[in-house]
Amino acid sequence: MNPNDKKQYLAFDAATGYPAGSRIRYECANCGGILESLPEHAVACKCRNVIVDSDAGRVSVKDLAQFRIFELL
Ligand SMILES: [Zn+2]
Repeated sequence: MNPNDKKQYLAFDAATGYPAGSRIRYECANCGGILESLPEHAVACKCRNVIVDSDAGRVSVKDLAQFRIFELL
């Protein structure tokens, strides 16, 4: 990620699903990992708190308090 990129954190409701897009990233506050919201393959952060399985179109988050979503502006 370019350090000059600005990011805007998005509000979301885990009950209705997570926003996704080419400029949307998922951030794990526990390990500091940043994942693409539409990865080519399944990805997980280092501590595996956040897992994005693009094939299944599914995002799993263990600890929602340590999960953030932002958009690159
Ligand atoms: Zn993590």
